[in-house]
Amino acid sequence: MKFRIKELFYTLQGEGVQAGRPAVFCRFSGCNLWSGRPEDRASARCPFCDTDFVGADAGEFEKAADLAKAIASTFPALPQSAYGERRPYVIFTGGEPALQLTEELIALLHGFGFELGVETNGTLPLPPGLDWITVSPKAGNPLVTVSGSELKLVWPQDNCQPEDFDALDFQHFILQPCDNARNRANTKACIEYCLSHPRWSLGLQTHKWIGLR
Ligand code: SF4
Repeated sequence: MKFRIKELFYTLQGEGVQAGRPAVFCRFSGCNLWSGRPEDRASARCPFCDTDFVGADAGEFEKAADLAKAIASTFPALPQSAYGERRPYVIFTGGEPALQLTEELIALLHGFGFELGVETNGTLPLPPGLDWITVSPKAGNPLVTVSGSELKLVWPQDNCQPEDFDALDFQHFILQPCDNARNRANTKACIEYCLSHPRWSLGLQTHKWIGLR
């Protein structure tokens, strides 16, 4: 199987519990809930998406080893001491990374000494070995990943309430305002929900405020 990569870039994580942390983002092409084409938006199984995941602008890789090398070379040339107690961090995102992510790629990147996170819609099985799992549920699409590091719910969504996920086994529960024409009202609703349900924390897309990729 060829790995099809939309983008590979080094930046700061903008969202969730790890917001602010430097990371290489590996954005896989394709998603199982939408084609990514505007003309298919009405029939998409995911009602919103703020990401371009169509195409393979950062390349197609025949072998996991070649993709692992490309990811490694996206980090700046820094001594390990620059990371302190941390390991260099890679975030697999998309699109839906579970469509392409493999155990072999994970093992190769661990061999480089990297810590590995994933941002998934949770509807497809993930290979084992990931260090940080963020699941972002989309209404009407049952989860197969029901445990992990962080459940990040973009909200409000029709037919989807935060309490639908309370029984799941995540370390952190994040409510992130849906970024649409009702952004202000969505943010207010998320704040009010968190204040009255303190297991949930407000999550913000900080990269959008400061113009980070
Ligand atoms: S699941 Fe994620 S990548 Fe896929 S269409 Fe929805 S928001 Fe976009």
